[in-house]
Amino acid sequence: MLRFASIGSGSKGNATLIETDSTTVMVDCGYSVVEVERRLVKLERDPSEIDALLLTHEHSDHVQGAARLSRRYKIPVWLTTGTLNACRDDGFASINIISAHQEFEINDLHVQAYPVPHDAREPCQFVFKNSSARLGLLTDVGCITPHIVETLSGCHALMLECNYEPEHLANGPYPPSLKQRIDSRLGHLSNQQAESLLEKMDTTALRCVVAMHLSEENNHPESALSALKNSLNGNQVKILMACQKEGFGWEEVNPN
Ligand SMILES: [Zn+2]
Ligand SMILES: [Zn+2]
Repeated sequence: MLRFASIGSGSKGNATLIETDSTTVMVDCGYSVVEVERRLVKLERDPSEIDALLLTHEHSDHVQGAARLSRRYKIPVWLTTGTLNACRDDGFASINIISAHQEFEINDLHVQAYPVPHDAREPCQFVFKNSSARLGLLTDVGCITPHIVETLSGCHALMLECNYEPEHLANGPYPPSLKQRIDSRLGHLSNQQAESLLEKMDTTALRCVVAMHLSEENNHPESALSALKNSLNGNQVKILMACQKEGFGWEEVNPN
């Protein structure tokens, strides 16, 4: 059994949970410890149950509370050297350095890191596997590489960034420099880029896609939803939406 949930997703904070029957892992911690404690109650979990904290990159919406949570609950952290060096508060309980291509185990959960183009020091994202299922996570990525397509092919479930709708971004309130950053090859993934990734990768086994890291300023849930629907045309794939306020509840990866 492999399941996943989120306590929040977007530019104001991110934290995702991946779980087998005996292991609970958190990816990123863009919330204060108090906020994590509060939000975990809804998922019927306590921070003391977290076996590992994996960090994708050093942007504050991903690491704001990471070091404090790690120290408070003695949670070991996995991250790249680049991310560690770029974290302002690196006082983690214990540190496991990984490469952005590394495969490693947290108890019965197999984790595969893979590198992504994003304007951080050494960013990576993750694919999770146990004996029954395969789950991909991809956010904070400016463009799709052949390696990303290959790595995510064959996943049963995928959490996929749908950050912005180009038209909303262009006409939105952000200053030109920030618009340019988001739209660049080291920025974030648009609804259309998410759609084209799904078209390129092997989605034969895919049963569930969750739209992640939606911009509250530059996207509409309906735009993201229709882009995902377009690319999964005719397939029996469940489509969910992660939100900034609550993330999403526990979802089991269905390998059949
Ligand atoms: Zn982010
Ligand atoms: Zn980022």
